Amino acid sequence: MIQLWAEKKDCCGCAACAQVCPCGAVAMRPDEEGFLYPQIDARLCSGCGLCLRACAWKNNQEYPERFEEPLVYAVRHISDGVRMNSSSGGAFTALSDAVLEQGGAVYGAAFDDGMNVVHARAQTKPERDAFRGSKYVQSNPGGVFSQVRADLLAGRKVLFTGTPCQTAGLTAFLGGADFEKLVLCDLVCHGVASPLMWREHLSRIEKTLGSPVAAYDFRDKSLGWHRHIEKAVGRNGRTDNRSLVSQEHKELFYSHNALRPSCHVCKYASFARPADITLADYRGIGKILPDFDDDKGVSLVLVNTEKGRTLFNSVLDSIEYRPGDTVSCMQTNLVRPTAPSPHRAAFWERYRRKGYLSAVKKYAGLGFKPRMKKAVKRALLKNGAIKK
Ligand SMILES: Cc1cc2nc3c(=O)[nH]c(=O)nc-3n(C[C@H](O)[C@H](O)[C@H](O)COP(=O)(O)OP(=O)(O)OC[C@H]3O[C@@H](n4cnc5c(N)ncnc54)[C@H](O)[C@@H]3O)c2cc1C
Repeated sequence: MIQLWAEKKDCCGCAACAQVCPCGAVAMRPDEEGFLYPQIDARLCSGCGLCLRACAWKNNQEYPERFEEPLVYAVRHISDGVRMNSSSGGAFTALSDAVLEQGGAVYGAAFDDGMNVVHARAQTKPERDAFRGSKYVQSNPGGVFSQVRADLLAGRKVLFTGTPCQTAGLTAFLGGADFEKLVLCDLVCHGVASPLMWREHLSRIEKTLGSPVAAYDFRDKSLGWHRHIEKAVGRNGRTDNRSLVSQEHKELFYSHNALRPSCHVCKYASFARPADITLADYRGIGKILPDFDDDKGVSLVLVNTEKGRTLFNSVLDSIEYRPGDTVSCMQTNLVRPTAPSPHRAAFWERYRRKGYLSAVKKYAGLGFKPRMKKAVKRALLKNGAIKK
């Protein structure tokens, strides 16, 4: 019997194995933390091993030729409106516009009708707009890899965007074939949070809004790009981006108690990317080009391959850009994976025994003591008594 994973960290959840199986024997099922893992139905499995070969996480893949060092750019979309609706500088919108204008298809992460984060396909700009903005939750890949293959076989240009493990998963699913019309775009990734914790957060916020959530912004820029706050909008029109409840998901995300186990051993946390183009926040931009940082967001664009360069060069009319460098754009997840919280196991144990609220209060910095500690630290930083 084929074994796809032994420990949770052995699977990144890209679902290439499930999508490649010709017998429909592999199904993605949520574990007790809400992350999807493949399970093989022995009655349907023919033992062909295609699933194992399509696992980018296990195998050392060959990627198309990369530049020795990426070309580094700081990018702002020329439209402030686009930037305010994007997580960084709106580079994704510029790149995807170019592909859509050539009749291509764009893939990315969106909310479905139930506010679950899922991967989907867009052929128009309004459809693509649903992909704008980071959703700090692991997206359900569904069957998009098969759709990508169908698009490519039909001769259509495709821009696939996602986490690095998803872009690597797609390459493995396609059998490593270098489809000329496929451009892969990944993100520098801090890790993906549990879809189950996302559902728990949604139910909490729905109570404070007094209605189901209609829209959610994981990077609300109303207080500026450098402040990370989240905003929920209810179907009743009420919004919340200030209450403690509205910030619970962000605090839990950064506490590292609810990230997928494989994120802590991510093999893509470096400049050697599995994609043609990599997007991120250019946090260090203020240090080298203070005038370029107007606090509305600046994208870091790493161009990793010739194909990436061709796409980037085709969008120069819709962006303002400056050359950057690999020092000023440096951040943790370009060097190593996010370290797990030492309290991860205790967090989940408490969640099982006492529920979501009790677990986030104790382990996500939302109880009285950690909040006081943070307030004191903020005050000391403000009056210069301590340095960041
Ligand atoms: C889970 C996650 C972790 C991240 N961690 C970091 C980090 O540590 N450092 C950093 O600099 N940047 C990080 N980013 C990337 C950053 O937040 C921006 O998404 C990126 O800079 C692109 O911004 P933009 O303005 O060009 O486009 P935007 O319009 O913000 O584009 C969003 C893009 O992200 C994709 N996307 C959104 N949510 C998901 C998801 N759940 N799974 C897969 N793809 C998704 C969309 O398909 C689209 O391509 C992360 C993004 C995600 C989703």
